[in-house]
Amino acid sequence: MCIICVDLEKGKLTPWEASRNRTEMLDILDEEHLKELDEKITASLKEYLIKLSIENNLESNSQFLN
Ligand SMILES: [Zn+2]
Repeated sequence: MCIICVDLEKGKLTPWEASRNRTEMLDILDEEHLKELDEKITASLKEYLIKLSIENNLESNSQFLN
């Protein structure tokens, strides 16, 4: 775990901020952790988009779910 993971999990970073921070850590983090971080950023992005779509499209979402 690095500072980016920690902040992502605490919800202190948006996926975009995390992605930008990741590019600054490319030389510091090992390849394996960069992969792990990629997955966390992707998961965080999906979560963000799901929340956004629930907030903005409650009606169409409920139609979709039904
Ligand atoms: Zn990390």
